[in-house]
Amino acid sequence: AVIYVQMLIDPLDRLLGWLDEVQIGAASLARLLGVAADAAEPEPHGAEPVGARIEVRGVRFSYVAGREVLHGLDLTLEPGERLAVVGPSGAGKSTLGRLLAGVHEPTGGTIRVGGVPLHDLPLDRLRTEVALVTQEHHVFIGTVRDNIAMVRPGAGDDEVRAALAAVHALDWAEALPQALETMVGVGGHPLSAAQAQQLALARLVLADPHTLVLDEATSLIDPRAARDLERSLAAVLQGRTVVAIAHRLFSAHDADRVAVVEDGRITELGSHAELVAANGPYAALWRSWHGERVVDPDDAPAEHTA
Ligand code: ADP
Ligand code: MG
Repeated sequence: AVIYVQMLIDPLDRLLGWLDEVQIGAASLARLLGVAADAAEPEPHGAEPVGARIEVRGVRFSYVAGREVLHGLDLTLEPGERLAVVGPSGAGKSTLGRLLAGVHEPTGGTIRVGGVPLHDLPLDRLRTEVALVTQEHHVFIGTVRDNIAMVRPGAGDDEVRAALAAVHALDWAEALPQALETMVGVGGHPLSAAQAQQLALARLVLADPHTLVLDEATSLIDPRAARDLERSLAAVLQGRTVVAIAHRLFSAHDADRVAVVEDGRITELGSHAELVAANGPYAALWRSWHGERVVDPDDAPAEHTA
């Protein structure tokens, strides 16, 4: 019952109502759209990036009064830039991602999008600016169509189909017992992990946000499916600003810049090459990764193709 309520009520609240209780512990399901960050394309980032500069200035955050977890972050993201955020577990990376997506409000400092404080943006505008993508909650209880259209309740059939086609998922979706009307999610038609991720990607295509924050979306699917998803994701990333959060270094070398977060602070910021040359914390992480053979599949990057 708990899962059911969370899966059913949250989307309604977050997506349709957007009650302003988007607060600590209530990660907005509008932004929980799982895809594989490690599939990020290093290629040209798409013709003309849209969206506005994001400015993080002196941002502090506490979940609990007296226990600050971010201690004053400064960061500027240019439209179309790809930033990888790396650092140890518990450093504050996911918290930063949730702040960038407007899930939490900074307890100090500001985040501005095109000069406007994030939390002054109307909710429909906020949703076109930034989406948070995590590994959880790929699929909600409902039809395939609803799973995609939930980000734009007025979306027509054609738009839903186009979104599925864009991520190469239309063929299998139409082959389901009731095609787009097939119920999925708990108790519904079982989808593979890759299919679930493709649904989430189609949802993103329809939502069409300027900025994507990908948080530890380590792929748990087999390599063949991963290659397919990579293609799907590459299409979705085109022209958008991307913040890829991982406590490991996969995809970091494909980013324009890397931010190292340690203990609630950005301790290094620069391109992969610059940070390797600087021979600091990032270089140490990178070396440790590079020589390491993956053992624990839970604790390992799905792809590390450097
Ligand atoms: P990372 O993503 O780098 O592993 P997080 O941003 O998840 O780090 O966590 C940063 C700090 O905030 C950690 O000390 C963590 O325990 C704490 N934290 C994260 N989420 C919550 C929460 N919902 N309530 C209280 N503390 C939290
Ligand atoms: Mg995290």
